[in-house]
Amino acid sequence: MARIGIMGGTFDPIHLGHLVTAEEARWQLGLDRVIFVPNRHPPHKDPGEVTDPEHRFRMTFLATATNPYFDVSREEIDRPGPSYTVDTLRVFRARFAGVQLFYITGADAIHQILRGEWHRTEELLRLCEFIAASRPGYALNHEDWQNSRIGREYRHRIHVLEIPALAISSTEIRWRVRNGKPIRYLVPEAVEQYIVKHNLYREGEGTA
Ligand code: ATP
Ligand code: MG
Repeated sequence: MARIGIMGGTFDPIHLGHLVTAEEARWQLGLDRVIFVPNRHPPHKDPGEVTDPEHRFRMTFLATATNPYFDVSREEIDRPGPSYTVDTLRVFRARFAGVQLFYITGADAIHQILRGEWHRTEELLRLCEFIAASRPGYALNHEDWQNSRIGREYRHRIHVLEIPALAISSTEIRWRVRNGKPIRYLVPEAVEQYIVKHNLYREGEGTA
């Protein structure tokens, strides 16, 4: 049975933490491919706070272009309104009948999911298995699972994945650009060049 990983995110911008997570998940879980899905409008963020989706899509494309196992989907970018993961997974579930799907996230997202904070959390977990990649600063411990608001049968569909830790966030990258600090070796070279070319993350630039 084919196995596909789906990695959703705002990717504002995509960085090496995202790429290592996806590649390590692919390797450890024996995935045939990983599809990156940049969102249009993250439900919990003000649209004005997020960079134009086309810029984020293109940076994600540039960052993943040389990996034969990576693809980028326009599924959320082309769908108006808030980008709910459950809607996306319904589409992928129908498109990839008979394929085992894995939704890849960092531990910070899993904390939210265990608290039932994502739209239709239990349906999400029915649609596919979840991968919780370790992320510096967001340890997952026994209590997080015990105190979870979601049903026990759903919790079992979340699998922890130890990955080489990279303490990088898009927030930090944006802050660095704004303050003239280097981002080389934190994002792929093509992404760094794209940020410079389009003058992203400077005050008042690049937002939708
Ligand atoms: P921001 O700081 O803007 O929230 P971010 O770095 O958290 O950005 P997102 O686009 O929000 O990036 O994250 C997309 C997915 O990648 C999430 O599931 C998140 O947990 C995961 N992720 C992001 N950075 C890392 C990292 N350094 N290690 C492991 N997982 C990560
Ligand atoms: Mg984040």
